[in-house]
Amino acid sequence: MASELNDFSKLCVHTLTTKPWNLRQCVENYSAAGIRGITIWRNVLDGQNLKEARKLLDDSGLDVVSVARGGFFPSAEKEKRQAAIDDNLFAIEQAAAVGAPVIVLVCGADGRQSLQKSRDQIREGIVKILPQAKAAGVKLAIEPLHPMYAGDRSAINTLEQANDMAEEINSEYVGIAVDVYHLWWDAHLQQEIKRCGQNGNLLAFHVCDWNVPTVDFLNDRGLMGDGCINIPQIRGWVEETGFRGYDEVEIFSDKYWATDQKEYLEKIKQAYLTKT
Ligand code: ZN
Repeated sequence: MASELNDFSKLCVHTLTTKPWNLRQCVENYSAAGIRGITIWRNVLDGQNLKEARKLLDDSGLDVVSVARGGFFPSAEKEKRQAAIDDNLFAIEQAAAVGAPVIVLVCGADGRQSLQKSRDQIREGIVKILPQAKAAGVKLAIEPLHPMYAGDRSAINTLEQANDMAEEINSEYVGIAVDVYHLWWDAHLQQEIKRCGQNGNLLAFHVCDWNVPTVDFLNDRGLMGDGCINIPQIRGWVEETGFRGYDEVEIFSDKYWATDQKEYLEKIKQAYLTKT
């Protein structure tokens, strides 16, 4: 809980949170700010020599918490489903190369077909890439997304659905990323977090806030404390399961991206200590 916290030993920042920065800038500035964990979005790996990226990360002492993102399995078109498999296999290679133990899956959806069909294709896609994930030692974290994305970004919209799928696949290499932004509204959240932890499926915990009003579905996430999510309560439920992983700050915000990113990082640290 926030009151017990006096350090940044569990603070991780997603590179997309500081979107104006490239990988080197993220690594150098996070390290200098005393942040301990980094989740790497694949856009900052584009055109990067992965060995050099690994050295940069190793030298920094930052913990690579995960790579974001894989997924987008469903499509009404077979070729696109195959392209997604290929892309996920590449993501596994990238994650292994930079030393990330987890890939976050934004599972995908295709509005031209039923949610059930998309869910079936998500399960098939995960099962297809699972052997390579195992071989690489990289776990796959299903991230349920807010229902406003059910038409195009994810047909997995509640923690209950994610729990069902992870339990059905039943592999130690498949688990779940719990993100307060996507799940805060769910009346069954506490019990589903408990279930997720009990089954050993809780792999990651993402924080930001829900702005009221939200003016953009993608890029108007709030800094912790800006909005209406009771983050300390949800964090408490997560920690009650025995989860000892990082608290990952994942904020997509046109507003904050337009500001000085070093000052923003300090705001993130403050909000982490007082509002998370
Ligand atoms: Zn997330």
